[in-house]
Amino acid sequence: MKPALYLHPKREKSLFRRHPWLFSNAVERVEGSPARGDIVSIYSSAGQWLAYAGYSPDSQIRARVWSFDKRTPVTTEFFIEKLQQAQAGRALLSEFSQTNSYRLVAGENDGLPGVTIDRYADVLVIQLLSAGADWCRSMLLEALTTLYPNCCVYERSDVDVRKKEGLEPVTGLLAGTLPPQPMVIEENGLKLWVDIITGHKTGYYLDQRNNRQLVGQLARGRRVLNCFSYTGGFGTYALAGQAASVMNLDVSQNALDIAAANVSLNQLDDTRIQHIKIDVFQALRDYQGELNFDLIVLDPPKFVDSKAHLKRASRGYQDINRLAMGLLEPGGLLATFSCSGLMPKELFQKIVADAALDAGRQIQFIKALEQAEDHPVAGPYPEGFYLKGFLCRVF
Ligand code: SAH
Repeated sequence: MKPALYLHPKREKSLFRRHPWLFSNAVERVEGSPARGDIVSIYSSAGQWLAYAGYSPDSQIRARVWSFDKRTPVTTEFFIEKLQQAQAGRALLSEFSQTNSYRLVAGENDGLPGVTIDRYADVLVIQLLSAGADWCRSMLLEALTTLYPNCCVYERSDVDVRKKEGLEPVTGLLAGTLPPQPMVIEENGLKLWVDIITGHKTGYYLDQRNNRQLVGQLARGRRVLNCFSYTGGFGTYALAGQAASVMNLDVSQNALDIAAANVSLNQLDDTRIQHIKIDVFQALRDYQGELNFDLIVLDPPKFVDSKAHLKRASRGYQDINRLAMGLLEPGGLLATFSCSGLMPKELFQKIVADAALDAGRQIQFIKALEQAEDHPVAGPYPEGFYLKGFLCRVF
């Protein structure tokens, strides 16, 4: 018997609306005995064929849809087509003239649920986040090596979410030769060190590219504080943009060492930049009444990991925003972000506004900020919009 999932009559709506996820409570019965990750057909309660999907028996997200078209089975050819579509979308973006690194595949948003592929020069870093994606590894790899014969493929599936899918972490070279790490990439004409083997996620946070450029353009003559700097992306742009001074703060010494190396890589003035290993919450408290800045970047890690924690996370965001405002010169600029998909944009704006009230300051929202264009959002999958931020003036 071909493996198949039949939907619960009252829980079919989201799939009819082409949301790619099928939750466990929407499955009325499973036919056949699909293995973890297996490709299954999804049927409506009335027995109508709806989709091909990857089966995740261990996860609350029981299946993720590969295709809503019965004539498009999940084969190597299917992956080749999806990759070509994704690549064509990225080619639309003219910003890539001085940029050789971008997100090539953004999972569900590119019709490949559970698959992230970041391109760093000629290295493709893949992350397989779901059982279905893991199952299709060899087809995906064949598609990649067919389309990108000159690229190396490296896997960084060392992410916690794989546990929910019943999968172990996996890392390593899948095809080609990995250049010595760290390696240099180009972003908006700046050179940056990225370590694909030991870096966060796939090595670097490509989603902030446009916002880093904006900060670079605003930095001239300003004293810049870059909180949660990682490898100093925002700080390097600010220095290149003629900031009066830059302070990069992060808890990771390794990240700060790379940030320092990025300064010399771009032949920038290292007397105007400091790299400080410190907990940002602590630093923002310590600096009150001691230091002042004209531009502060707050780009913390994800604070919200489940809806249940939204309230606690909101407090965290409010704290750092309030403390940061306390360090801003009147009329100073704050670029503040939340990369938590579970944090709605409206709520985040309210948190920042409330932080200003708490700090006894006035605030103007000047510009809404978001993830770069190589991180698109699929229509039926609003979850794809996760990075939000505001450029604010604080008086
Ligand atoms: N702005 C960066 C990305 C930031 S990722 C960029 O543009 O590339 C978040 C960073 O916050 C990580 O480097 C992590 O090491 C750091 N971090 C997490 N918690 C921290 C804390 N409490 N204090 C300081 N840094 C922290």
